[in-house]
Amino acid sequence: MHLDAQGVASDCRLAASPHCDARPLPDDIRLVVIHNISLPAGTFGSADAERLFLGTLDTSLRKDYAALEGLRVSAHFLIRRDGETVQFVPCSLRAWHCGPSSWCGWQRCNDFSIGIELEGCDDQPFDERQYRKLERLLAAIRERWPNVALAGHSEIAPGRKTDPGPHFDWPRFRPRTPA
Ligand SMILES: [Zn+2]
Repeated sequence: MHLDAQGVASDCRLAASPHCDARPLPDDIRLVVIHNISLPAGTFGSADAERLFLGTLDTSLRKDYAALEGLRVSAHFLIRRDGETVQFVPCSLRAWHCGPSSWCGWQRCNDFSIGIELEGCDDQPFDERQYRKLERLLAAIRERWPNVALAGHSEIAPGRKTDPGPHFDWPRFRPRTPA
């Protein structure tokens, strides 16, 4: 897998989201933010998370979707349980996945981050096929931005967000650097 000049990854299905805009500094990418999402919550295999990011989710379908009404959110990538990966926003543009957030003293993490959603929830393990795809995607991102760091949504919006949750395998993706 590799990224083209716009930050569009090979090996991904493209579904262009309108929920994006220009980054303040187009090539300033310092962080990858890991999320989880499932719609309906805890249900896998539905296309509703994808619809949410595309702005086509009918929020009248379910009572628990009412809170999503009018929400304009996106991520750069969504990795499904079977490893299939959908790209909604080129990495050169700003996707809307962080909300109010800060990392290392910098606010508005959307400005300088790439958002990767794993189809999942806080109380179930992720699928090995998702981890393998995430490894390939991170390798492609690091070819372009070698120093990019990795954070969970819960780390940049503590108290407000809990994803990717306790099952995410941090030691695999963020080994502790030797002292
Ligand atoms: Zn999140």
